[in-house]
Amino acid sequence: MKMGRFVIDSHVHAQRFAAGRTMQEKLKSGDSAAAPGSEEYKRLHEQLTYELQPYDNSARLLYDMECYGVDMCILTSAFNMTNELNVQIVKNNPGRFVALAYGDKYRQEVQRTGKSWSAAEAAKELDDLLATGNFVGIGEGFPQDPNLGSKHRRIDIHERLDEIAHFMAVARKYKVPVRYHVGLTMGYTTGYCRGSGANPETYNPMWVHDLAIEWPDVPIIFEHGGVQAWWWEKWYEECLNVAAATDNVYLETGTWWTELYDKPLRDPNIGAKKLLWGTDWGSSIPIEWQPGQHPETYVCQRRKTPPVRHQVDMFGWSLKQLGRLNIPQDDLNLILGGNAARLYRIKLPHTRIFPFVDE
Ligand SMILES: [Zn+2]
Repeated sequence: MKMGRFVIDSHVHAQRFAAGRTMQEKLKSGDSAAAPGSEEYKRLHEQLTYELQPYDNSARLLYDMECYGVDMCILTSAFNMTNELNVQIVKNNPGRFVALAYGDKYRQEVQRTGKSWSAAEAAKELDDLLATGNFVGIGEGFPQDPNLGSKHRRIDIHERLDEIAHFMAVARKYKVPVRYHVGLTMGYTTGYCRGSGANPETYNPMWVHDLAIEWPDVPIIFEHGGVQAWWWEKWYEECLNVAAATDNVYLETGTWWTELYDKPLRDPNIGAKKLLWGTDWGSSIPIEWQPGQHPETYVCQRRKTPPVRHQVDMFGWSLKQLGRLNIPQDDLNLILGGNAARLYRIKLPHTRIFPFVDE
């Protein structure tokens, strides 16, 4: 049986990289023949950011959607994934996908030419993409200066929030949601306020208190709801704190284990209306298991083990976490698709199948 009436995974990567051979050649050409897993991750991250070209992985995605009764996915980009390929996948499969706008061409140009990056230019690319009508939101995350690390510069809260303001203005213009990325995969080492594509906001969910006040008409979705990977709940707690104190902030939940749903569902200022299921399908982050411990399973990369090669079954794991909740089906339906349909203005097969008919 399907888990809900109209199920939307709001965070999916339908593009994948064939990294194996290129990486092996790189590793062989390095100083040490037998590089540890951590070195492999480091090199993979560099390649993902600068070199590797993605391929269309939608056949596996459609297979999983069929398996688990997922009606639609919101396609998002990362690394070198391209807008063009996502738009192509949307057009090849009518009614199954919508896509988010992601700054890719300008970033690649800056990397290639070494010219200086500006948030205004990056916002212009997003503006042009949204003007095509091919995109329903901005993500994942916000554009960043890809050369910050090589310039030996760091970025602080003031500078970064000023940059983000450019992207919020584009979202306001097109009345679309933005996605504020929170979390780390643990496999890829990520600089806090420096490095390729430094995004200090990923460590700082509390900054959204300011963004939510300054842009009250723009829906802001915490990607991964504070738990992209690993087992701690610090950023999750911070995401809840922001969502409870604002009216335009939402939480993505697909990487949450079952118990993480309890607090927001019981909080009268959060509730099912502010939760969106989104698994990060296609991101190559496996599930860890520690029987008898809390949490018993969680999403995480191992630094000493090479990146996972098979397609991790995110739908299966994530729907099992949600399926343990004994809550009204109408609330579950909101989390599983209704809220995403409302925020991204996705056309549904019928009106009045979710409890927001009067809004
Ligand atoms: Zn992702």
